[in-house]
Amino acid sequence: MSISENIRRIRSQIPENVTLVAVSKFQPAEKVKEAFDAGQIDFGENKVQEMVNKAAMVKSPVRWHMIGHLQRNKVKYIAPFVHLIHGVDSAELLDEIEKQAIKNDRIIPVLLQMHLSGEESKFGLSEQELLAILVKNTASTYPHIEIRGLMGMAALTHDNRIIRSQFRSLKVLFDRVKSDYFPLQTSFTELSMGMSSDYAIAIEEGSTMIRIGTAIFGERQY
Ligand SMILES: *Cc1c(COP(=O)(O)O)cnc(C)c1O
Repeated sequence: MSISENIRRIRSQIPENVTLVAVSKFQPAEKVKEAFDAGQIDFGENKVQEMVNKAAMVKSPVRWHMIGHLQRNKVKYIAPFVHLIHGVDSAELLDEIEKQAIKNDRIIPVLLQMHLSGEESKFGLSEQELLAILVKNTASTYPHIEIRGLMGMAALTHDNRIIRSQFRSLKVLFDRVKSDYFPLQTSFTELSMGMSSDYAIAIEEGSTMIRIGTAIFGERQY
């Protein structure tokens, strides 16, 4: 199936208020353009250099999501234009994002990435680390950062019960963090969870943002 057919099919399966992020990592800019022509606006990349290159080739209104691990020394390259940084997993990274947001005279939206057990990636915060960040008043510590929600990846397993229970725990945590730390803010709204293999479960468990690569673009050529 073509990219546009894949996008149409996935959109027809998900609620309208769920954001579809097309993960274009390892895909050439032409494929981003093809998806954009099919009405896709949100794109995810996991490497800074690749995002910067494609952003130069495919002009806005594309919204670029950084979904991978972000090194502090590379924040400056995406700070001028990035739409949402999903993978924030340390106070040091928040410090750097704040600094670069000031330099670019903008507010940068981020999600805090949680580490769910059994997941392939070693990145992400434990619950304890998350709370250590949140107890410092983030709104006053980081006036140029908008914490918009949480992100997580389920374990690499074919056991749907495990995947579902991990998504469910993340949603419980999300609701608790929202009521404890962002009760008055209407901006803490996003729960980024779900990829090609598990987005249906993620949406049933409360995802507001799914990150889909292969189900849109086909297998990646590494
Ligand atoms: C690559 C990637 C995705 C997309 O994975 P698919 O299985 O191709 O849909 C989603 N999230 C993150 C963080 C990724 O690195």
